Amino acid sequence: MIPGLMQTAPLLISGIVTYAAQAHGGREIVSKLIDEPNWRYDYAGLLRRSAQLAHALARLGVGPGDRVTSLAWNTHRHLELFYAVPGIGAVLHTANPRLFDEQIVYTINHAESAVLAYDRNFAELVDRIAPQLTTVKTFVMLSSPERTIPGRVGALSCEALIADEPATIDWPSFDENAGAFLCYTSGTTGDPKGVLYSHRAVVLHAMAGGLNSAFGFTAFDVVMPCSSLYHATAWGVPFSAPICGTKLVLPGDKMDGAALHDLIQGEGVTFTGGVPTIWTMYLDWLEKTGQRPDTLKRVVIGGSAVPRAMAETFKTQYGVDVLQIWGMTETCPIGVVATPTPSLAALGEDAMNDAIWTRQGRLQFGIELRVETDDGQAAPRDGETSGALKVRGPWVVRRYFRKDQDAAQADGWFDTGDIATLDEHGFMRITDRQKDVIKSGGEWISSIDLENIAAGCPGVKIAAVIGVPHPKWEERPLLVIEAHDGASVGKAEVLDYLAPRIVKWWTPDDVVFAPVPLTATGKIDKKVLREAWRRHLMG
Ligand code: ADP
Repeated sequence: MIPGLMQTAPLLISGIVTYAAQAHGGREIVSKLIDEPNWRYDYAGLLRRSAQLAHALARLGVGPGDRVTSLAWNTHRHLELFYAVPGIGAVLHTANPRLFDEQIVYTINHAESAVLAYDRNFAELVDRIAPQLTTVKTFVMLSSPERTIPGRVGALSCEALIADEPATIDWPSFDENAGAFLCYTSGTTGDPKGVLYSHRAVVLHAMAGGLNSAFGFTAFDVVMPCSSLYHATAWGVPFSAPICGTKLVLPGDKMDGAALHDLIQGEGVTFTGGVPTIWTMYLDWLEKTGQRPDTLKRVVIGGSAVPRAMAETFKTQYGVDVLQIWGMTETCPIGVVATPTPSLAALGEDAMNDAIWTRQGRLQFGIELRVETDDGQAAPRDGETSGALKVRGPWVVRRYFRKDQDAAQADGWFDTGDIATLDEHGFMRITDRQKDVIKSGGEWISSIDLENIAAGCPGVKIAAVIGVPHPKWEERPLLVIEAHDGASVGKAEVLDYLAPRIVKWWTPDDVVFAPVPLTATGKIDKKVLREAWRRHLMG
């Protein structure tokens, strides 16, 4: 080998905002806020205010490698933290406000954050947990000076902090492998684990995210991320969108049907994304009000399996394409995206839709996938043989923060905890999480497949399937249904709906109607459900 003779400029996050300000500085950013009127500016403004914030943070003593925690919704101020903090070489820990108090405290202390920046409607929460925060020295409220509530912690207003700072900055240059974002898994089993994204990982992931095989942004798109900025950087959209020059719409903390529809119509949103629960709510709202999202073209959905009925409704009723994605905190988070290909199109529209709606996505350049059978061999790419899903690539975790052993194997493969198949078109389908699969008499039943089908039954809002102990079969499926308000759907209707669509031995042993608990990242909380219904089939 001889060394290449090209430049080696590091891939740094500050480069994204600098580029966006130069290449499409006038492209608009609109943000909803907490108790304040909507905010409007552009990428040039984002660069100016990020520079001011970077200077202010440095004045507070934040230096390279230091951690800053945000506890905030999807707003322009949170976006500015996304650039200012890593811009100066510090690390932004995006705390998840939907975790329990103890877990929020755990993550902030584990991150050893020096600064906590939070939205106004977290004032009470912060006052409550502050005595347990061992490293935070400065509290900053993401609010105007008049609206800032100092509280017991003596919070400073972020606007007062940046007001006199210069609006230009020479971003420092450093190793692209430096830590930039610290995102914790939701800790459904054990303590949350910290995944420390490097600049290089974030930038490569953002470049891949904009590609046509993924989100396929163009400069004409109007993009509204409804995945939370605090959850794995909202799927990297805060970076892909500025790279591609899209208009950016930040929905704040309100994700109900009416609020989202207002923004879609008012701002001309063409592209949005979020977890399935948001879209269940939105589709229900559209049906009840008879409204239509006129400008919307594509919705990316992931975080949990997308019910086929949801994708079909978006397409057939509203002409909106659904792209399913799969990923996890450990993969920055995008792993695969379900986008069409010529080889699928050649099979006809129905077959193509079927492939896209029922699979999590297809291979993206940058992430390798391996489905491994019990004997440690790679499963054939036949779309049938399932096994443990492993991933590797430049935006996959190697080691969790402050752990002394790697989470990935020496050859880079990281076991996702999911069970999947791969097919000849490069499409991956998750059949279950290893811990959720139902083992009935030595055979496996996919809880995801059953949920997906049951979710199509009229009146069903959320369908959850869990394996519960059974005296004869070890485990049998129990279907827990949360119905839409006012819907009259009973056990008989659900079983009749399932009968022609599943093999007989998959039929749930019982169907019960109850609220379905969700985790802090919007997934069905199967641990809680299994505990609640543990004895249901034991007689
Ligand atoms: P948590 O902290 O709850 O693990 P993540 O967002 O990192 O939060 O969760 C990742 C997991 O979510 C994946 O391992 C997978 O089980 C599930 N998941 C994500 N997207 C999908 C999808 N499209 N279909 C099915 N499961 C998904």
